Amino acid sequence: MTLPSFRLLRPRSIEEAVGYLAQYAGNTRILAGGTDLIPSMRQKLFEPECVLDLRGIAALRGIRPLPDGGVEIGALTTLRAIERSDFLRHHYPVLAEAAATVASPVLRNMGTIGGNICLDTRCLWYNQSLTWRKGCGFCIKKDGDLCHVAPGGTKCWAAFSGDTPPALLCLNAEIEITSAAGVRCIALKDFYTGLGDSHRKLQPDELVTRIFLPASSADYRGVYRKLRVRGSIDYPLAGVAVVIKRSNGHVADARIGITAVNPAPMLVKGATELLSGEVLSDELAAVVGDLAAKTAKPLTTSALTPEYRREMIRVFTKRAVLAAAGS
Ligand SMILES: Cc1cc2nc3c(=O)[nH]c(=O)nc-3n(C[C@H](O)[C@H](O)[C@H](O)COP(=O)(O)OP(=O)(O)OC[C@H]3O[C@@H](n4cnc5c(N)ncnc54)[C@H](O)[C@@H]3O)c2cc1C
Ligand code: SF4
Repeated sequence: MTLPSFRLLRPRSIEEAVGYLAQYAGNTRILAGGTDLIPSMRQKLFEPECVLDLRGIAALRGIRPLPDGGVEIGALTTLRAIERSDFLRHHYPVLAEAAATVASPVLRNMGTIGGNICLDTRCLWYNQSLTWRKGCGFCIKKDGDLCHVAPGGTKCWAAFSGDTPPALLCLNAEIEITSAAGVRCIALKDFYTGLGDSHRKLQPDELVTRIFLPASSADYRGVYRKLRVRGSIDYPLAGVAVVIKRSNGHVADARIGITAVNPAPMLVKGATELLSGEVLSDELAAVVGDLAAKTAKPLTTSALTPEYRREMIRVFTKRAVLAAAGS
């Protein structure tokens, strides 16, 4: 599968990058590590006129602890750097653990945290070659008007399949978005739409530039569990991140994030309230597992059945809660 032709733009600064986006908005794709974008372009899922290659912008790389105890992470920081950062492993372990499960070492050396946050949603009927898609019939997500997964519906259910966003959601991450018009910061939980075909609230002239983790989320115990077909390389088919802070044997605070079972990564509503102030037990962890399974709405978008993926959310949540609590 060959790449479609495009014009390569190689800015050296954020200002230059957003200048290009303002000039060519609507017909440009941003390239960070390229580990998802390039295969998708080969499959002719994207055929942009221009590709904006961020890799020459040094200011977008790096993990910088902040004076207040939080940390900022440049969008172009590789997943490998996150996985190996002593600071993150110590203070935000759930993020380092989730990053370490993405794809394979080679892909983590190329792939970035910004690319992982902005990752396109995935579906068995979409992530295929042009010939395959032509043969089966195009769908709502690209070039068609029907959904093979939920026939009769008008919504695309392609699953968000990034590993670090559920961990970032548990850590109350904020992201900085830059355009030629200025800079804005939003909570990551407000970044996703929940729609498979237009899953991010990002304008064509905008770039994700930094990720902020607040000091108030530091030093929680964290665990990430992931279901995939090949342990050495695959995207998640279900993923659970858990953070817990304990005090005097009780849960002081906790959050649970899930991925790969909905069109957006999401926090499990009600989990914090269920766990806070309680002493962790097998029974309580099982109740939280049931809640996470109810939040998961997997459909036939991936290799394993929806029933199995939902069940594994239940099982992984229970195990991850017990592991994070050190039980
Ligand atoms: C075989 C294989 C296995 C994989 N397994 C996993 C897995 O297990 N878990 C997982 O999470 N991912 C997996 N991936 C996908 C990918 O490697 C990672 O998600 C990676 O983090 C993507 O980052 P990137 O920098 O390479 O993104 P790119 O491919 O460069 O970009 C991805 C998307 O984000 C956009 N984008 C990138 N940076 C920005 C930015 N700063 N601002 C705005 N938009 C931006 C791009 O335009 C594109 O739409 C896999 C990929 C392959 C090929
Ligand atoms: S969920 Fe439906 S519309 Fe979306 S990519 Fe899959 S088949 Fe297409």
